[in-house]
Amino acid sequence: MKKYLLPVILFFVTQTACNQTNKPMKYNKLTPDEQAVILHKATERPYTGEYVDNKSEGTYVCKQCNTPLYESKDKFDSHCGWPSFDDEIKGTVKRIPDADGRRTEIVCANCGGHLGHVFNGEGFTVKNTRHCVNSISMKFIQNKKEMEKAYFASGCFWGTEYHFMKSKGVLETTVGYMGGKTMNPTYKEVCTGMSGHIETTEVEFDPTMTTFEELLKLYYETHNFEQVGGQGPDIGEQYQSVVFYVNDEQKKMVEKYMKILQDKGFKPATQLRKAEEFWVAEDYHQEYYDKKHGTPYCHIYRKIF
Ligand SMILES: [Zn+2]
Repeated sequence: MKKYLLPVILFFVTQTACNQTNKPMKYNKLTPDEQAVILHKATERPYTGEYVDNKSEGTYVCKQCNTPLYESKDKFDSHCGWPSFDDEIKGTVKRIPDADGRRTEIVCANCGGHLGHVFNGEGFTVKNTRHCVNSISMKFIQNKKEMEKAYFASGCFWGTEYHFMKSKGVLETTVGYMGGKTMNPTYKEVCTGMSGHIETTEVEFDPTMTTFEELLKLYYETHNFEQVGGQGPDIGEQYQSVVFYVNDEQKKMVEKYMKILQDKGFKPATQLRKAEEFWVAEDYHQEYYDKKHGTPYCHIYRKIF
């Protein structure tokens, strides 16, 4: 017995030490372009970043580790070509003097990811500080209160989501099920057509960048809204064309477009129904075509409006 004691004690000591020093950290996977800046300290070209002119309210988090770094209230226009902030969220940005002693690099204090440089004494704002940050080092999280939601069903939700997730002003899309009789439906249950759910895409959008009307036009332009009882080769109640409205304005807008389409000679079969509980679909259905690097087999864009 005795001879096993030492290895056992050593095992516990090692385990404890590991747990103290190696905090479990899960970083986001970075694209080659993100790696070049975040890991190898490259600089994106001025005026090319996603957030240079972003004026929405929200928080900028670290692309690699999601630590909140900057608030939109501290962002200002410096006309230097990169997002500029005159303050950081306390304790989340670390300053490191460059080797040449001229500039000060800024990195995420949590993961060490490169952000950009910080400059003092330029007089842009009263705080007299400019964090010059690469857009690609950050991810912007819009304040929830500014977002609006819409629910569109136009056949297989992979194809519906494909077009909305690429549309300007859309912040997030999720595929799921709406309008059925059961709680927490699975894809299998919905596929039987017995649960009454419709394959639906939830679209969260920034009303300062797009409108429900714009999204509605895209909806009609990316599926066959005249088809009854399914979409393309997908036949069944779960594939019907439905707009689930969340408020009266959306309802009126859909009614207006039904009329416009009829005036153009179409026979829209789209149902207009009040939004109900939205059940998020299984993970592998989310952003399906991007994951598979494919394009929809139906849901081909055609200009109508
Ligand atoms: Zn980080």
